[in-house]
Amino acid sequence: MPNIKIQREAVYKDFATTPGPCPKCGGVLEQTNFPYMVATRTGTRIEDSFLISGDFGWFCQSCPVVVLNQSELRKMMGFSKPGWKIGSEILVLGIMDLDAIPENKRHLPIGSPEMPNVLVKFRNLDDKKPASRKRHKKTRSKTS
Ligand SMILES: [Zn+2]
Repeated sequence: MPNIKIQREAVYKDFATTPGPCPKCGGVLEQTNFPYMVATRTGTRIEDSFLISGDFGWFCQSCPVVVLNQSELRKMMGFSKPGWKIGSEILVLGIMDLDAIPENKRHLPIGSPEMPNVLVKFRNLDDKKPASRKRHKKTRSKTS
């Protein structure tokens, strides 16, 4: 079982059955089922985030890379919109370390205020510049 407490690097890939060797180090990838936090977004704005569980992640046994099967993800999430791309409109934020949730809080819904944040974010998430970078560009200058 891969250690999910370490921050990993997400690599999106389209493949039918197996992703082949690790794109970074050539190591062996191992398919494992985990709960993930996934967000949809428009441009840089996160619209919604939710928890999905699936085996679309392939973990490298030699380096902290996880290869995400985009076609599987798209299928799972039921996005039929043509042109939707994983990584631009759908973003996997990271892996949920559900075991880190104390016993007495496990009944709480994910995202509730009392629930500890157990999301182990992908470390290359910022490459894609999502979330919290709110643009306060007030387009008031409509003086036409
Ligand atoms: Zn690797």
